[in-house]
Amino acid sequence: MPEDQHFVVVGASLAGLRGAEALRAAGYKGRISVVGDEDRLPYNRPPLSKKILTGEQAIEEVSFPLADDLGVDWHLGAAATGLDIAAQRVTLANGTALVYDRLLIATGVSPIMPQIPGRDLDGVHVLRDFAHAVKLRGALTPGRSLVILGAGFIGCEVAASARQMGLNVTIVDRLAWPMNRVMGPEMAGLFRTIHEEQGVSFRMEAAVAAFRGEGKVTGVELAGGEVIPADLVLVGVGSAPATAWLRDSGLVLQNGVVCDAACLAANGGGKIAAAGDVAAWPHLGYGAEVMRMEHWTNAFEQGAAAALALISDAPEPYLPLPSFWSDQYSYKIQALGRPKVDDRIEVVAGDLESRKFVAEYRDDAGVTGVLSVNMPARIAGYRRDLGAAIRQRATGL
Ligand SMILES: Cc1cc2nc3c(=O)[nH]c(=O)nc-3n(C[C@H](O)[C@H](O)[C@H](O)COP(=O)(O)OP(=O)(O)OC[C@H]3O[C@@H](n4cnc5c(N)ncnc54)[C@H](O)[C@@H]3O)c2cc1C
Repeated sequence: MPEDQHFVVVGASLAGLRGAEALRAAGYKGRISVVGDEDRLPYNRPPLSKKILTGEQAIEEVSFPLADDLGVDWHLGAAATGLDIAAQRVTLANGTALVYDRLLIATGVSPIMPQIPGRDLDGVHVLRDFAHAVKLRGALTPGRSLVILGAGFIGCEVAASARQMGLNVTIVDRLAWPMNRVMGPEMAGLFRTIHEEQGVSFRMEAAVAAFRGEGKVTGVELAGGEVIPADLVLVGVGSAPATAWLRDSGLVLQNGVVCDAACLAANGGGKIAAAGDVAAWPHLGYGAEVMRMEHWTNAFEQGAAAALALISDAPEPYLPLPSFWSDQYSYKIQALGRPKVDDRIEVVAGDLESRKFVAEYRDDAGVTGVLSVNMPARIAGYRRDLGAAIRQRATGL
């Protein structure tokens, strides 16, 4: 792209930063503006549910290092409120208008707050950003009772952190098993046992009717009428793509910003791409299944891929190997690939009893995914092989 071009990124976090870094690494000399509604430079979110809550890491340490020569004009504390595709213009809440030649959308997701009575009471928390983490951390006092709504990864990580800090923790979920959607019931059962051994109580297959309290939450009422005492509540029931600002733009929005296989936004005329938690794109390594991932590694890789697609004459399909990790107590959980619920699971190294193992998920065509607990060294080979298989399926090479 010529030097007088203006590249605008909306979303000043992992995917947006990676986009800017990739442009500079590729030799792009034009202007880059990055817009973020938080008033902070980009920071790392995974510690917010882990070492930041337990105090093992200082909250100031979550900032990403920024290269001196990144050359970005930051527009922080300034939400993007609208996009005019014909005028190639992004408008911000503070009245600024940015005219772009290329636009990368990296606005991530927002936590969902279900319409439960009492949701506005003091002591009812969500956890997505720095401000949420500061607030939650301040409330995690030993001996208090925390009820977590949602047994997904965020809920389970916060449960582990809170138990380590001496709180009483109860997890409530509609589903039968924690983290089931990703691991399958057998492995989810193991993690439920681990949490129970650490003192976490589970109320699974249970619905929350209301948060109880006068001004401040004191309990969580289940659909059957039982009230679980609570000094604080974390709602971790999932997130929705942060696309409200694009509602009238003409972009295709369907569970995220819909893109083509190279992350270029549908209706964006080749000048707009999306990356990270907000992007939905057909993954050619999985039969063009439309995917949207809410994992760190994807935001890191897709931020770069989508930005480069915007300055390329021949954008390439984005073909990541799905992967994520989670840290709970002393367990490092790592997962690769895209297992299906009816895949066979086989432990191929270590064993479940010692909680140190590698398990393969298989269908008739071969390995679909891998789950490792406390055996990080064994993951590298699978990363290479599963990644190669994806590229082979997508390109035939
Ligand atoms: C507490 C927590 C723990 C996590 N732990 C793990 C983990 O252990 N392993 C793992 O793989 N993944 C983990 N993740 C997920 C990972 O952090 C995300 O996948 C990653 O941050 C996504 O990056 P992103 O840049 O796409 O979006 P985000 O990091 O969500 O950034 C989007 C940014 O855009 C901003 N924004 C939104 N709307 C606008 C607007 N209209 N105008 C301007 N700015 C806007 C947002 O405020 C935000 O700053 C965790 C996430 C959280 C919240």
